[in-house]
Amino acid sequence: MGNTQRESFGNLLSPIRAGTHMVRNRIIMGSMHTRLETEPDGISKQIAFYAERARGEAAILVTGGFSPNAEGLFDPEGPRIDDPDEAMHLRPICEAVQAEGSLFCAQLLHAGRYAKIEGCVAPSPIRAPINRFIPREMTDADIRRTIADFAKAAANAQAAGFDGVEIMGSEGYLINEFTVTHTNTREDDWGGSAENRHRFPVEIVRAVRDQCGPDFLVIYRISAADLVEGGAPADEIAALARKIEAAGADILNTGIGWHEARVPTIAYPVPRGAWRQAAANVKAAVSIPVVASNRINTPAMAEDILASGEADMISMARPFLADPHFVKKVREGRADEINTCIACNQACLDFIFSDRPVSCLVNPRAGRETEFRDTPTDSPRKVAVVGGGAAGMATAAEAARLGHVVTLFEAHDRLGGQLNLARAAPGKDEFDETLRYYSGQMHKHGVTLRLGQRAGLDDLTGFDHVVIATGVTPRIPDLPGVDHPSVATYAEILSGERAAGDNVVVMGAGGIGHDVAEFLVTGSAEVHSTNAFCETWGVDPTFAASGGLAGDPLAPKPSRRKVVMLQRKTSKPGAGLGVSTGWILRNALRKHGVEAMGGVVYDRIDDAGLHILMDGKPKVIAADTIVLCTGQEPERALAEALAGRGVTVTMIGGAKEAAELDALRAIDEGVRLAQGL
Ligand code: NAP
Ligand code: SF4
Repeated sequence: MGNTQRESFGNLLSPIRAGTHMVRNRIIMGSMHTRLETEPDGISKQIAFYAERARGEAAILVTGGFSPNAEGLFDPEGPRIDDPDEAMHLRPICEAVQAEGSLFCAQLLHAGRYAKIEGCVAPSPIRAPINRFIPREMTDADIRRTIADFAKAAANAQAAGFDGVEIMGSEGYLINEFTVTHTNTREDDWGGSAENRHRFPVEIVRAVRDQCGPDFLVIYRISAADLVEGGAPADEIAALARKIEAAGADILNTGIGWHEARVPTIAYPVPRGAWRQAAANVKAAVSIPVVASNRINTPAMAEDILASGEADMISMARPFLADPHFVKKVREGRADEINTCIACNQACLDFIFSDRPVSCLVNPRAGRETEFRDTPTDSPRKVAVVGGGAAGMATAAEAARLGHVVTLFEAHDRLGGQLNLARAAPGKDEFDETLRYYSGQMHKHGVTLRLGQRAGLDDLTGFDHVVIATGVTPRIPDLPGVDHPSVATYAEILSGERAAGDNVVVMGAGGIGHDVAEFLVTGSAEVHSTNAFCETWGVDPTFAASGGLAGDPLAPKPSRRKVVMLQRKTSKPGAGLGVSTGWILRNALRKHGVEAMGGVVYDRIDDAGLHILMDGKPKVIAADTIVLCTGQEPERALAEALAGRGVTVTMIGGAKEAAELDALRAIDEGVRLAQGL
């Protein structure tokens, strides 16, 4: 098995020349904001974070974005690299990464009109829809000074010990704002023709190369698909790529979609490898290495893109949060042990957007490397874990890894618990990877599995520690008619135990209500095929069209099934969804004609449907199916029985607290509990 795996990833593991460097394999850890620099002891935390990923054999690591000057700061506290003395503080991080054999590049990112600061600048004074600040139009002198700032920033990075820089030319930041008419309406030498719009990035690359010499790695991240109206067509992108190559870049990384784009680009509804054609278009234009990025999360997908010649290298960012040892595991023939990024964004982007340091739902150690221990216990304990959902699996796998003797009881004949329901929502079958990973870890570390066995009091004697991870059951509201045949729980619908009719009311507009509504109005095929995804979101699969768009991303896509989603709160339905994914879900439901209503009072259910009061007036919503997505109750019967017998137990996950239980909290609690045993 090991050898076969190694051979089948021959492209991924092969070295490649970039500029004057021989790069050890084809995998780049892409740039991510970590916010670790804002933490107490931030340098030590960054050393631990990056060195761990270098030990995991990513060939090149790219930092989060550093602004080359004050105007380019993403927010007032954002990282910058315009002061040579400050930059020298980064030297220990560079040394730690290089000691592990990886190349380390600083990303230079000028936020342009996305900068959340007074006095932000842009090629033209056009406000970004995602920023309240109106940018000041840059003068010719501003532009020339900014080019020099990029060169100085690169020099600072070089002096601090970085092997190179990545110049951020995508995602709608300043450089990208110059390259397209969407944001560049200038009539001077920096606007108008493509030649003029491309001048700014070309001059930056040239200035950085001149400043730093031939051995300094220069990566340019080109926008391979802007996904905004007035974005660049493929032929203009190819022309820019050729100019960037001629100006002295060693590698062309690709970026997909502006932050204001209304097309999802990296979250779970995007099929794996959806953007490979955009990278292939760039590769066809140049002879320097081209990097494919976005929604590539498995070695198999990476290898396929490399083998097909669509790109020379692969950039992965979030997959290195999920598993810092991604490449090492591939090289050692252990690809099946990779903890796969499921593209949920819950603990990476959503944490960053709420000013928290980055972490990862499937790997709570990410970003907190200094808080967790790896050394095996010197006092192994006999541990029983009851419940094989996310919390139970995470506890069992981590406890066994640390040397405890673990038995896991699961009443059903398969592991997964709520993950088996969550996976039914479109795109969320990525949870299968989490199930694979934790099952594999439990097997590897010798957890005894008792599947199909509902643990009773007698089964739990003789253990030093009993962990109750029995999870949740769907909440059944106290409502007349709730036992009507038309009523089903979300669990019955998502598991396929019950089929829904054509007129559905979803009671509850939380995370599960939204997932169920989407499940009901879309076929899962819609998110699994790139063509269907492109068709749904108005993307031109060839990327030849302006911005890579073939239509309006928000154009209606009616479903044959009518779905109405209700909540009692008067707040906007879906307000509590994840920052970086909620908008996708809300737009998807809107496109498919789902009606969402708040401020509803439930009255009763009968043959006519669901009776409600809306603004104090009675109303009946006819429905052949009413799905309860009304939260959960903790499943604590066993815990209470054990307590009655005087057995000490620890409850985690939904059993401990059902409200707002999700896989993020479940896995985090499980791993931390095991660490503390
Ligand atoms: P939730 O987000 O808390 O939503 C529960 C819903 O049930 C609310 O809409 C609530 O709204 C309603 N409700 C609660 N008690 C009720 C009652 N007695 N009668 C009628 N309605 C009642 O919980 P969830 O949807 O069950 O999801 C569980 C967890 O998983 C949450 O933390 C959620 O964020 C997470 N999750 C997130 C996603 C996602 O982001 N896509 C997907 C799945 C799950 P009213 O009280 O206003 O009626
Ligand atoms: Fe991937 Fe989710 Fe982890 Fe982010 S939190 S790295 S999206 S698995």
